[in-house]
Amino acid sequence: MEAIGVLMACQMSPYLEQELEKRFNLFRFWNFQQKKEFLKENSNSIRAIVGNATAGADAELIDSLPRLEIVASYSVGLDKIDLGYCKEKGIRVTNTPDVLTEDVADLAIGLILTVLRRICECDRYVRSGSWKKGDFKLTTKFSGKTVGIIGLGRIGTAIAKRAEAFDCPISYYSRSAKPDSKYKYYTNVIDLASNCNILIVACPLTAETRHIINREVIDALGPKGVLINIGRGPHVDEPELVSALVEGRLGGAGLDVYEHEPEVPEQLFGLDNVVLLPHVGSGTVETRQAMADLVIGNLEAHFLKKPLLTPVV
Ligand code: NAP
Repeated sequence: MEAIGVLMACQMSPYLEQELEKRFNLFRFWNFQQKKEFLKENSNSIRAIVGNATAGADAELIDSLPRLEIVASYSVGLDKIDLGYCKEKGIRVTNTPDVLTEDVADLAIGLILTVLRRICECDRYVRSGSWKKGDFKLTTKFSGKTVGIIGLGRIGTAIAKRAEAFDCPISYYSRSAKPDSKYKYYTNVIDLASNCNILIVACPLTAETRHIINREVIDALGPKGVLINIGRGPHVDEPELVSALVEGRLGGAGLDVYEHEPEVPEQLFGLDNVVLLPHVGSGTVETRQAMADLVIGNLEAHFLKKPLLTPVV
């Protein structure tokens, strides 16, 4: 039987590569300099793409693979996949929901505590020997602060649950109120930002949510407010965020994602009220393995003509 060709869009996980290689004819896209030539030569054997939050499948790539049947994303976010085009062409799409929820929610709480309690700055204080010269300055309490969440989905709900344990009143914004939720619903982001101390972005990146954090929202959050972004970089108008932080119009920020990652605005490097992480929301050994297993499970189910484990399209 002809080996099924699977194209891995970028480097993401040695474990996933190894497991794909055991089952399929794996093409590592990043190893080919001449992408167009490579696609021309192999278009007739590639039936699946494995993407992630960095590289997925746009219309051009989809069009260059006439035998493409499925795009399996090693991420829950689908912003790097042209979902509408996949639907139109009958190409199946899967992602990795649920298995990463806890890690991302844990990290959101970690970012809040790190920004408010200045944990990174405290660590530098001890290492540099500054402690010997005097005590560290006082910081800001987290327990009891009002937390606003944009996108009360799997991750947003898991963050809310954790923040509740810190006695934080929770409110949220999403396109519709969640009837089963006990949290306060706001019909727009400005009202949510005006009424919370900590604003967390946890919605998917779509045309609608691009720059959902703009100057107006930042000003509504204000000089004591803190922005946490564990969603996607383009949710935030980054130049506006940078100027608000530099000018002291926003109290602080904890960021896992950036508009042009891995590029991060250098003006942020000198700010102690900002914590910068390199997109590691789901980055634990346990979770990345579970995500890889889900990608494999979806591909196997598809090619064995069984129901997909986590279908999107
Ligand atoms: P989910 O369960 O689908 O939840 C998404 C929530 O966002 C839903 O409650 C949805 O509610 C809301 N939403 C959708 N469109 C919206 C809009 N236009 N305006 C406001 N709210 C909107 O997804 P999830 O599993 O929680 O994941 C959320 C996102 O987190 C992913 O898409 C991904 O981009 C990001 N993520 C980041 C990392 C990281 O490493 N930093 C890791 C994993 C995931 P309504 O439908 O009612 O609007």
